[in-house]
Amino acid sequence: MTLPELQEFIRQMYGWKDEQRGAEGTFLWLCEEVGELAAALRESDQDALELEFADVLAWLATLANVKGVDLSRAIERKYGKGCPGCGKLICACGESVKP
Ligand SMILES: [Zn+2]
Repeated sequence: MTLPELQEFIRQMYGWKDEQRGAEGTFLWLCEEVGELAAALRESDQDALELEFADVLAWLATLANVKGVDLSRAIERKYGKGCPGCGKLICACGESVKP
């Protein structure tokens, strides 16, 4: 599944609910799922970890839908030509630098 396919899939499944909830409520759900991912990273249950990654990605796609952001376009703009920090395809930024 590509990012555009994911966003459309989520839109069809939850779009009407997402519009009613809005960006702020959706962002809170995303944060909750990130917390659940953090908890899963501490465990050794690979199956549960995989599902938490799915939840985080689904809520990120949901938030992007609510705000009218095309994730594929966004990632291409930001990372399509390499690291945003140094511009290289294999990052050469210092380890303390967040791109
Ligand atoms: Zn870099």
